[in-house]
Amino acid sequence: MITLYNTLTRQKETFEPIEPGKVKMYVCGPTVYNYIHIGNARPAINYDVVRRYFEYQGYEVVYVSNFTDVDDKLIKRSKELGESVETIADRYIDAFYEDVGALNVKKATSNPRVMNHMDDIIKFIKELVDQGNAYESGGDVYFRTRKFEDYGKLSHQSLNDLKVGARIEQGEQKEDALDFTLWKQAKPEEISWDSPFGKGRPGWHIECSVMAYHELGATIDIHAGGTDLQFPHHENEIAQSEAHNHAPFANYWMHNGFINIDNEKMSKSLGNFVLVHDIIKQIDPDVLRFFMISVHYRSPINYNVELVEAAKSGLERVRNSYQAIEEREAIATNIEDQSAYIEAIDDILKQFEAVMNDDFNTANAITAWYDLAKLANKYILENTTSTAVIERFKEVYKIFSDVLGVPLKSKESDMLLDEQVEALIEERNKARQNKDFARADEIRDDLKAQNIILEDTAQGVRFKRG
Ligand SMILES: [Zn+2]
Repeated sequence: MITLYNTLTRQKETFEPIEPGKVKMYVCGPTVYNYIHIGNARPAINYDVVRRYFEYQGYEVVYVSNFTDVDDKLIKRSKELGESVETIADRYIDAFYEDVGALNVKKATSNPRVMNHMDDIIKFIKELVDQGNAYESGGDVYFRTRKFEDYGKLSHQSLNDLKVGARIEQGEQKEDALDFTLWKQAKPEEISWDSPFGKGRPGWHIECSVMAYHELGATIDIHAGGTDLQFPHHENEIAQSEAHNHAPFANYWMHNGFINIDNEKMSKSLGNFVLVHDIIKQIDPDVLRFFMISVHYRSPINYNVELVEAAKSGLERVRNSYQAIEEREAIATNIEDQSAYIEAIDDILKQFEAVMNDDFNTANAITAWYDLAKLANKYILENTTSTAVIERFKEVYKIFSDVLGVPLKSKESDMLLDEQVEALIEERNKARQNKDFARADEIRDDLKAQNIILEDTAQGVRFKRG
């Protein structure tokens, strides 16, 4: 039984899917005008763990996360660089896949883009206007906030509280300061689309309502994102979707905490912006991931060198104990009855599941992993080792690794050393001399899989790393 903290009700609730065995999940994604920063990596990793844990529990997860590829920041960048908005978006979408791929984040079921859903967005806005939930004014379209009585239910604010802070900006022709933009009239020379309201582009909030509806239907199980998105973004998504669909938008809302850099808020002005693309050249991405999940997703996380170092040694401890277990496998036998160890391993697995069932407490899940490592280290001091115990250790290590998305071996340890490659080339030469072409091809393909390319030269076979 999985429980999770629902921002909507401000309490932990038992997860009940809409369709048995299935989880429909929507996570607000990045604006693709630059490489992602470490603050974007946090939801990517944490909700990937949520997904993996649901999958481990036997659920099919449909995981949708959008790319915001039309917005002010992109338009600004496009002017600065003299490139189209689309070219810039394409570049940073590729970079996003590269960066989160390095962090071992599974690919989403789909990553819808605003540009590809423009017709759906326009249709949705048109329907809101026809229903009386939105109105055109001065070339823009606004949502009639007061008409949606539940407005404020996610961020737990009343319309009257909100009214105090609301203002009508210059150039806006709203009926009410609380109304928000669904469609913006195009400024000269800006990217724009034709619509029944004239040339323009969508406001930010509408894209998520439309793409969630399009990809997942009127009601989804879990909607997730950073805590800063609760208001106004998610509040506005609820208003648009529920007014349009006449159905609850999301049954559970999950929000992850902030990330600070050396106890300071990350901001452009402080110059402490950490881009994932840069940082993973200095820090092993597995370590970065392990660090991110060492704190519960709802708590703030502080990023600094010492804490990342601590995560690195923690991960090494886990990996060293796993390696020791693997090495013991060769000399394990079937004769010893060591069922007490099997029971102890299973207790740790139960502990892991209990803490993950409790709002995905990865911090405590890592503690369970350390307990497993401690038990493994104790076990290898035994004089005799049993195959059954070794197997059970390996199975549970693999479960922890798969759910948390942290590989049991570092990529470097998988990399073939130069002398190992030379030995394989030598073996391949012999295989060819013996006309064992199948083996020769197999070696070439194995090397290719590791990005090692063989080249025939006058001096014999050389290799290069791709
Ligand atoms: Zn969103």
